[in-house]
Amino acid sequence: MSNHGQKLLVAELESDSDGVEHPVLDISRMYRCHARSNLPPVVAGDRVVFQIERKPATEKLTGVVSALMDRRSLLSRPDKFGRLKPVAANVDRICVVVAPLPEPHFNLTDRYIVAAELSGAAPLIIFNKADLVANDPSSRVHEMRELYTSLGYDCILVSAKSETGTGELLELLDGTTAILCGQSGVGKSALAKLLIDDQEASEIAIGALSEAVVKGRHTTTAARLYRLKAGDGFLIDSPGVREFGLWHLEQADLTHGFVEFRPFLGQCRFSDCSHTHEPDCAILLALEEGHIDPRRWQSYRATADSLDMFEIRTEV
Ligand code: GDP
Ligand code: ZN
Repeated sequence: MSNHGQKLLVAELESDSDGVEHPVLDISRMYRCHARSNLPPVVAGDRVVFQIERKPATEKLTGVVSALMDRRSLLSRPDKFGRLKPVAANVDRICVVVAPLPEPHFNLTDRYIVAAELSGAAPLIIFNKADLVANDPSSRVHEMRELYTSLGYDCILVSAKSETGTGELLELLDGTTAILCGQSGVGKSALAKLLIDDQEASEIAIGALSEAVVKGRHTTTAARLYRLKAGDGFLIDSPGVREFGLWHLEQADLTHGFVEFRPFLGQCRFSDCSHTHEPDCAILLALEEGHIDPRRWQSYRATADSLDMFEIRTEV
């Protein structure tokens, strides 16, 4: 798609016996399409029906999108007016990238994981820069990996630098459409380069350059779908998509995003319990009895605070 960066199948023209040329699909090339105006916005990851335009005189490979297939999932982010805009469709894996540098924090990591949980896509936690922690058993990365594994999350330790674990990562992503999110500097660009087709990888910048892109262009850069280097999967990437998790989070949903809280929800004395100080709070009791890890409850609290959950509103 010319505007949305979506990769589509490409046609070649073939003549039959009466000399009429018929377009034939060639899956190896990009097809620039525009969408019929009656369609809702088409985003990266969408499956579409399109007609190949017959322009035998030109080299341009173009088409018209005539239908949008049902979406399994849709990631949307609010624009500056608070209106939800679709960003990526059919995402089934959200990879939260964590690294020893920049120093990881439970609060921020949990925020990404909670947002993934609420989106319906399965979170995968990628601990990158394994080369920096190989000889450091006390690194927080190991502590985090232990905690998230105990909560049932898929975790993988990789190094984009030494290219260790990336084959295994590709296997985990096989057959899925994934996004990478996480703090700036954890190695998302470096990982994306290793995960996607060599031809397309040249378009992804690492380090300072990607920072410039993030700062300067993220509001206008459309997400793009890339084919994974091995297996049958895709990566949707853009500076905006990488910030998934920092997008708006509904206060009411927050507790559901903490998976281990779920069995206790609905059991507090007050139906609007904030699970921070109330008497007969099932979450606080579970915390006290060791069913909920204090680091996760702290994250919950910090995230809730950042959403102004406890803001006292005065009626006017
Ligand atoms: P992004 O902001 O998350 O996209 O991070 P980048 O991919 O731009 O990487 C930030 C910095 O970390 C760059 O200087 C990379 O070279 C470096 N980096 C990325 N992956 C690794 C890794 O596995 N090990 C080490 N030591 N450095 C890495
Ligand atoms: Zn409670």
